[in-house]
Amino acid sequence: MKKIKHFHSLSFKLTIWYILILAMIITLSGFFLYQGYKDKLTDELDKLLFEIADETYEAWRKKRGVSWQEAIQKIETKYSSFPLYIQVVELTEEKPLQIRNFIRSPRIPPGCLQLKPHLYRKADKTDLNDLIHLEVDDKRLCSFPLRTLLIPVRGPRILQVSLSTEERNKALNELILVMGGAGLLLLVLASAGGSLIISKALHPVSKVIKTAKKITADDLSLRIETKERSDEIGALVETFNEMIARLERSVKKIKQFSGDVSHELRTPLTIIRGEVEVSLRKDRKKEEYIQTMQSVLEEVGRMERIINDLLLLSRLEMMESSQLQENIDLSTIASEAISLRKEEASKKGLIIEADLPAPLFLTGHPELLMRLVINLLDNALRYTPSGGKIALEVKREGNNIKLQISDTGIGIPEKDLPFIFDRFYVVDPSRSKETGGVGLGLAIVKWIADFHQAQIQVESKLNQGTTFIISFPQQKNRNDEK
Ligand code: ADP
Repeated sequence: MKKIKHFHSLSFKLTIWYILILAMIITLSGFFLYQGYKDKLTDELDKLLFEIADETYEAWRKKRGVSWQEAIQKIETKYSSFPLYIQVVELTEEKPLQIRNFIRSPRIPPGCLQLKPHLYRKADKTDLNDLIHLEVDDKRLCSFPLRTLLIPVRGPRILQVSLSTEERNKALNELILVMGGAGLLLLVLASAGGSLIISKALHPVSKVIKTAKKITADDLSLRIETKERSDEIGALVETFNEMIARLERSVKKIKQFSGDVSHELRTPLTIIRGEVEVSLRKDRKKEEYIQTMQSVLEEVGRMERIINDLLLLSRLEMMESSQLQENIDLSTIASEAISLRKEEASKKGLIIEADLPAPLFLTGHPELLMRLVINLLDNALRYTPSGGKIALEVKREGNNIKLQISDTGIGIPEKDLPFIFDRFYVVDPSRSKETGGVGLGLAIVKWIADFHQAQIQVESKLNQGTTFIISFPQQKNRNDEK
């Protein structure tokens, strides 16, 4: 039996998928959290930059005679606890604008924080709602990363305020570390929990496999235990148990059937052997030999009937519904069956009455339908004493076509009625032996009726008679009677 490799197992695949999806969710939420936090910190930084720029401008504008240099120094002193750099970039009036001068605090080393001229030119054209903020992370411009704001002021001049982003970046890096650690821990814990749940949920499947491996044709009594589960696994286990139960029933039936067949064939063989042995024990008269031969012939005939019926049954098992033909007239089949048994009936002193109206068409298999009518007719002939009557009728009733065969025979005891369609079931073995029945006739009738999706009804009264009604359903392309 096939062994499932761990890497191919459903629980392994499900766990991997689960971990991948979880990792994706954690990464995405981490990313959005990081972005949100970064935006918030940057917004705060931008607000502060604007505030500082505004204060610098006000310090220069309010008092007459205050130079930009003084205003810058005043603000830098006020915000001395911040890593702050302010400078005013003076531009020429010419087109295109050129940088004339940098007014800056002595704290800024020469060459530092001098952006590309086109950025100052661009800043000159902006208004208050559309100011330029830049992240500067270039060692040539400054030894540490900065966020800088460019505001045009009277001149043309650009007020450039820069704050170090080191603090913000440190906070963000810490956030990454914390989130990474927490995410990893969450992933490990959730994966362990998930894989535990998955393997627990799939545990009954391994049980199914283990039990299925133990089941053989000789031991179909095993069932998989389930603790009342109403999920898919529960349904699977239940279906599997039902399947084994069905298999067990069929195997039991097959075993019983082969036992019955051997028994039924052995009985006539034993009789033949006995008869022949007795007649060989001493010299016999010619008449005695003839009598033995007749008895042997009778038993051979019985065996032949059993074998023929069994062959027919196994042939029937292989039939497919595609072999059904349309427009089969049941009345004609019934009347042909009567013609075949007319002589036998009159020999037995029985009357066959027929009520077969105009053609009644159905979708069916003519050979099998003939066999069904003959089997029922033969039983009626067998079990009706001389002087009796057999009535055969085909009629339409609603959407059904009904075949009814009644006799005034010995009837079937009520307790036997549920079993008469079983293979080899005979009501009274001595009676069947007399009449040559082997107990397969009605099993064949039942199979043919089922094949045509027909219903069988039996009514019987002891010593009064029996009626079989076979009700064929409306067939798709059945023609109406004319
Ligand atoms: P058999 O070949 O022995 O007739 P069947 O399968 O045809 O076997 O029938 C099963 C049993 O049903 C028979 O043994 C017989 O006793 C009973 N049976 C069937 N048809 C009739 C009938 N028309 N009247 C009385 N008994 C019947």
